[in-house]
Amino acid sequence: MSSSSLSAGDYIASKCTKCGQETNHTIVAMVDDVPVKVQCNTCSSAHKYRKPAAAKKPAAARKPAAPRKSKADPQAAERQQWQELESSFNPSAAVAYSMDTTYKVRALIDHPTFGLGQIQEFAGTRKMLVLFAEGTKVLRCG
Ligand SMILES: [Zn+2]
Repeated sequence: MSSSSLSAGDYIASKCTKCGQETNHTIVAMVDDVPVKVQCNTCSSAHKYRKPAAAKKPAAARKPAAPRKSKADPQAAERQQWQELESSFNPSAAVAYSMDTTYKVRALIDHPTFGLGQIQEFAGTRKMLVLFAEGTKVLRCG
């Protein structure tokens, strides 16, 4: 299997600038088994060896790294706040929630849907923000 080894005088396909296409060339000079100078068999012009167009580099299909979700989860803060709260409060102090009842900030309530929650602040007329295990909810109040 020595067909791949070339030497001066061999024929090789190369791009010829004069002919504007790949033509058969005769190797004029070799360096380390690589043809460096060839002569076109069609137009007889000698030039540097150019690899045939087939030797294309594979297109680098670099995908940009997927943007990481670096934004802090807005609910994560509430969950942490809830966990701290949950470990400190006394569930028996919670009062059943009623939209007609007047509450105080920091009071504990027991909501039929959301469970235990702590009133964070009042927001507008007869509305209050209550922190539950699943997040802050806006509830009616008296
Ligand atoms: Zn040529």
